Amino acid sequence: MKKIILLIGAVCLTLPFFAQVRGKINIPELNGYVTLKCDFHIHTVFSDGNVWPTVRIDEAFREGLDVVSITDHIEYRPYQDDIVASHDRSYEIARELAQARGIILIKGSEITRDMPPGHSNAIFLTNSDALDTPGYMDAFAAAKVQNAFIFWNHPCWDVQQPDTTLWFDEHTKLLEQGMMHGIEVVNGRWYCPEAHRWCLEKNLTMLGNTDVHAPMQIFAAGKHRTMTLVFARSATPEAIHEALKERRTAVYYDDFIIGEEKYLKELFENALEIKVEKTDASARITFVNTSDFTFNLKKTQHDTRLVYFRDYTIVPNGTHTITIQLQDGITGGDINFEVENFLVKPNEGMKYTVKI
Ligand code: ZN
Repeated sequence: MKKIILLIGAVCLTLPFFAQVRGKINIPELNGYVTLKCDFHIHTVFSDGNVWPTVRIDEAFREGLDVVSITDHIEYRPYQDDIVASHDRSYEIARELAQARGIILIKGSEITRDMPPGHSNAIFLTNSDALDTPGYMDAFAAAKVQNAFIFWNHPCWDVQQPDTTLWFDEHTKLLEQGMMHGIEVVNGRWYCPEAHRWCLEKNLTMLGNTDVHAPMQIFAAGKHRTMTLVFARSATPEAIHEALKERRTAVYYDDFIIGEEKYLKELFENALEIKVEKTDASARITFVNTSDFTFNLKKTQHDTRLVYFRDYTIVPNGTHTITIQLQDGITGGDINFEVENFLVKPNEGMKYTVKI
C-alpha cells in the first residue's frame, strides 16, 4: 500500500513537469529575420472567454508559440458582475508567467462594434481603458494615440455580414486616417478570400489568429492552431511591431501558408533542399523537407517531352525522390508546378520552377 501511495505521489510530482515541456513548431527563418509564431486574438474570462489569463500562456508554451496578445472585448463583458476590473487586467495577470515562460505578451483589446466597422483588435496598447468610449471613432483614435497596431477582425463573419463580405465607407475612413493596418485573413478555421484580396490591393498586413474563447484544444502530432508568422529582426516587442507595420507576415492555417509571394518563396526555398541528378534519359529531383510544412505540388504548363508527376505531396520532415523521363533526346528543361497550399492570391497557389 505504501508503495502504491509513493508511486501515485511520484506520478503527481512529475505531471507538472510533463505539462511544462515547450512545444516546437519547425518553420524556417527568412534571410535576415527570425520567424515568430504569434496569435494576436485571444479571449479570457475578462470578456467572454472561458479561461483565466495565465492558462493562455501555458497553452502557448505547450504549443511552441513565441508571441500572444490577449484581446478581451472592450464593450462585451458578460461576467462583469463577477469580475470587476480594468481592461488592462487580463494582461497584467498573465504578464509574469509570460516572462517566466519566455512568451512575448503584447497588450491588446478588441474594439467590438456593429458592422460597420465591425470588430477590430488594437495591439501594443499602453492603456486599454482609454478605448472604453461611446463613439467608435473615439475608440480607434485612443488606440492610434498610443501608436497601436490595429487590424480588422473576421470581415467574413456571417453574423455581421450575412450574405456578402463588404468593404464599407467606414473602413475607407479608418484606413485613410491611419487606424487600420491589417486584416485577419484567417480567423479560427475560416479563410476569408476578400480579406486576402484587400490586403494585397490596399497594402495591409495579413493576419491569422484563433479568436479562441474556450480552452485550447490538444492538438495531435503535426497539427497546430491558426497563427500569424511574423518575420522580425529580433524577438522583441519593438521588432514585432516594426515587422507588422512593414507587412512582413504570413498566415499558417491548417496545411496552408498565405502571404506575399516574396516571403512564401523564401519560406519554400529555406524549408526544402533540392538536389538534381541526371542520367541519359532521366533526371531525379530529391526534395529534403526540413520543416513541418506540407507541400502540395501540381504540375503546370511544361514541355511535354519532360514526363513527371501530375500531383505530388511532400510530407513534413520527409525526403522524396522524383524521377523525370527525358523523351525525344531532350537533355533538360523546366519542371514547372504550383504549390497549391501556398496561397499568393485568393485561392491561387505559388508557381515554382526547378531547372534540370
Ligand atoms: Zn475576438
